Amino acid sequence: MDYIEEIVQNQRNYFHTGKTLSYNYRVEQLKALRTMLKENEKEIYQALKKDLNKSRYEALTTELGFLLTEIDFTLSHLKKWMEPRKVDAPITHKGSQSYIQKEPYGVTLAIAPWNYPLQLAIAPVIGAIAAGNTAVIKPSEFTKETSSLLTKMIQSTFDPAYITVVEGDVNESQKLLDQRFDYIFFTGSSNVGKIVMREASKYLTPVTLELGGKSPAIVNKDANIDLTAKRIVWGKFTNAGQTCVAPDFIYVHEKVKPKLLKAMKKYIKTLYGKKPIENNDYVQIVNKKHFTRLTSFLTNGEIYCGGTYDEETLRISPTIVDNISWEDPIMQDEIFGPLLPVLTFKELDEVIGDLKVHEKPLALYYFGENKKQQEKVMNSLSFGGGCINDTLYHLANPHLPFGGVGNSGMGSYHGKYSFDTFSHEKSILKQTTKFDIPLRYPGSKLAYSIV
Ligand code: NAD
Repeated sequence: MDYIEEIVQNQRNYFHTGKTLSYNYRVEQLKALRTMLKENEKEIYQALKKDLNKSRYEALTTELGFLLTEIDFTLSHLKKWMEPRKVDAPITHKGSQSYIQKEPYGVTLAIAPWNYPLQLAIAPVIGAIAAGNTAVIKPSEFTKETSSLLTKMIQSTFDPAYITVVEGDVNESQKLLDQRFDYIFFTGSSNVGKIVMREASKYLTPVTLELGGKSPAIVNKDANIDLTAKRIVWGKFTNAGQTCVAPDFIYVHEKVKPKLLKAMKKYIKTLYGKKPIENNDYVQIVNKKHFTRLTSFLTNGEIYCGGTYDEETLRISPTIVDNISWEDPIMQDEIFGPLLPVLTFKELDEVIGDLKVHEKPLALYYFGENKKQQEKVMNSLSFGGGCINDTLYHLANPHLPFGGVGNSGMGSYHGKYSFDTFSHEKSILKQTTKFDIPLRYPGSKLAYSIV
């Protein structure tokens, strides 16, 4: 038996023992996960620094801190989430009780990308454990330090028949996808998402696909420009733009464009210093391939600020690119780097019309004070999730589901949505034996009285 086949078989046997089901077991495992993360805090910072030059601050706020908050949130609500939910029934069901019981799917697989290599590998597993499943984690091959630390941490915390890590590239990923899983949670690009869905269909395995896309930041003329600039700069250049929900491009009203660009330039300096590529806390591009892809866009439009890079450290400074049109290469795919193209509009309807003909993005950000216009944008465009007058913040609220729509994904997670994602909703009707309503049986005259 191939080792991957064996892992899945062992996990299936483990799941069938029923050990993962009890509330106490789930709580114990979530606590073990929390202890594992806390005890390895220093090593986690070191690994993220080596892989992506992530600063301690970014590693804490966007990876480790996020996970600890998510575990604590889950621990404090899990009991309630696990309770069967009673539902109403029509009069024809008198005497019976109906309820929904959550049950785990079984053996689950989480495939993760490289941009938040710890957070995106572990966050789905919090949901898998909470819902009573076993899990195989496949981290990215591009962030080797974090992936190997993940293996070490998970190995020393969990029985591999319960939770384990399979490191490797596309080959391992494909071998995993050859297996029969009961649920697949994939985070990555839309192209690979299609492959995952196709492979999952072999066994009719349900999937969640957390994908990407070109997320716009629309800035209207009534926006608070200074705050807008600060929040866009933070949202875009955190992790050097390698964030699935980073504003991919700006769509700004022509009247406020000069003021917005000036304010963004100011905030780039405030947040990243005069020479960001020399700032030791500024995140690098993950590898040479992505670095080359990104620098090739620097010939598009006109560079308003930034545009410098260092091939040795794989850093590209926060760059604003003006005079861009939808036809430019930088506008064809998700940028996933610190380049921020700017498009201009005169009327909000133009923006809505343009965005409607493009793929549904993972996020959308609207900046403007007028409530009617805020509602107009929220009601006329489809996107995974987003903010009015902010960027990224929606994903840090565990009460909100996080996920895409259309090309940016399907399904969602975070907080209770993670628990729901990894649970099947089993419908149960408990019938009375004290009496029997004749309605359902052939010949019942009562049936005719309904129509
Ligand atoms: P990717 O799709 O190339 O890789 C993701 C994972 O899939 C990796 O573990 C990789 O080994 C595996 N993989 C790659 N090719 C495969 C194949 N042919 N068959 C099977 N498995 C394969 O994505 P990436 O470059 O690691 O990450 C960047 C993308 O992820 C961006 O599009 C970004 O928007 C998206 N993303 C989405 C979210 C989200 O929550 N929606 C979060 C982070 C990143």
